[in-house]
Amino acid sequence: MRYSDISDSDFDRRHLWHPYTSTIDPLPCYEVESAEGCVITLKDGRRLIDGMSSWWCVIHGYSHPVLVEAAKRQIDSMSHVMFGGLTHEPAIRLGRLLLDILPDEMEHIFYADSGSVATEVAMKMAVQAQNDPRRTNFATIRSGYHGDTWNAMSVCDPVTGMHGAFGPALPRRLFAPSPECRFGDEWDPEDFAPMRRLLEENADTLAAVILEPIVQGAGGMRFYHPQYLRELRKECSRLGIFLIFDEIATGFGRTGKLFALEHAGVVPDIMLLGKGLTGGFMTFAAIATTADIALRISQSEARCMMHGPTFMGNPLACAVALASTELLLRSPWQERVKQIESIMKSRLACAADWPEVDDVRVLGAIGVIQLKEPVDLADFQRRCVDMGVWIRPFGKNAYIMPPFMAATDEQVERLCDCLLQLIRRH
Ligand code: PMP
Repeated sequence: MRYSDISDSDFDRRHLWHPYTSTIDPLPCYEVESAEGCVITLKDGRRLIDGMSSWWCVIHGYSHPVLVEAAKRQIDSMSHVMFGGLTHEPAIRLGRLLLDILPDEMEHIFYADSGSVATEVAMKMAVQAQNDPRRTNFATIRSGYHGDTWNAMSVCDPVTGMHGAFGPALPRRLFAPSPECRFGDEWDPEDFAPMRRLLEENADTLAAVILEPIVQGAGGMRFYHPQYLRELRKECSRLGIFLIFDEIATGFGRTGKLFALEHAGVVPDIMLLGKGLTGGFMTFAAIATTADIALRISQSEARCMMHGPTFMGNPLACAVALASTELLLRSPWQERVKQIESIMKSRLACAADWPEVDDVRVLGAIGVIQLKEPVDLADFQRRCVDMGVWIRPFGKNAYIMPPFMAATDEQVERLCDCLLQLIRRH
């Protein structure tokens, strides 16, 4: 019982790793007692309006009764059963629903454990579908983020993607500059030129291009022009390179469309879903592919998709994902996202002229203030909690993306006002 006489907070600080933290100099953590709707309640009773959706995923708010009920019902019949040789109704119903709402070209679903694993699976799929030992590499754009596992790290931005520490240990991927032409600006054809060149020069070694459509999340919070994706689709098809869209952060309404690819009217060969898939209830992801990709994989040397995790198609996660997606589809999510977008646009605009601010941008239920200097995170968090909000910047980006189906107008306004006050001192 070596640890029994340490207080909970000391145990946490000394012995538990949190995301991207040091064990000798960890940032302070705040203990949460419960969370409901758009409010996180701390152990000491303080209540925080949530501006993060726990990293994009809690779209309906916390502890939504429909999701709680779906989980309880599923637990009562079967929490898990292997997916090898067995199947079940939650997986089947969820698969049907996903294929109904995804572009018509998507015909097959692979269930995976998390966003990062989905990236790994998609990259394996692309290599298997090429079935050509020369075509095994990947291209992407800078400022991207696709997860923390090995291959996912290799296609994150080498600098802002948080994986610089691994340098030469990672496979070497091909990076085009991130698109400069912003969402809503006039299209500049020159913006696609570096990617076109890169693809033409390397086509015979490339399995696929992977990128986040329209919104680049954790690698820079950038919103780029839909025409970039149309050009990319054309070029990939012409050169026999598969196109993978990572919609793990953008999927399920966050950008104002159900999927961000709808802004461009472009369909990839492989598409990744995660985060909001279960309404942020638990980890889960899905990879959708066209019939062509599925056929190529099934006719490749291995004659099957070589991936099959223990918790593949977990019934509990499938049941919650089904309930969450049905709930979203029958809710007025478009109106909510539009309303939140217009509040954030009008409230945050004033910061654009501030000396400490580089840029202000809003798309859907995502509001970003890009600062000239990185934020002092510990100080920022402390002041956030004192104000009764939960906002967690990274680097120079201070942003809010509230649970859009739970946040009231007043809560969004409060988040915006607090964010402005918080950055004013930096
Ligand atoms: N892709 C994108 C676009 C993401 O934003 C993330 C998570 N931030 C991932 C992949 C990885 O997902 P997970 O954290 O569930 O592994």
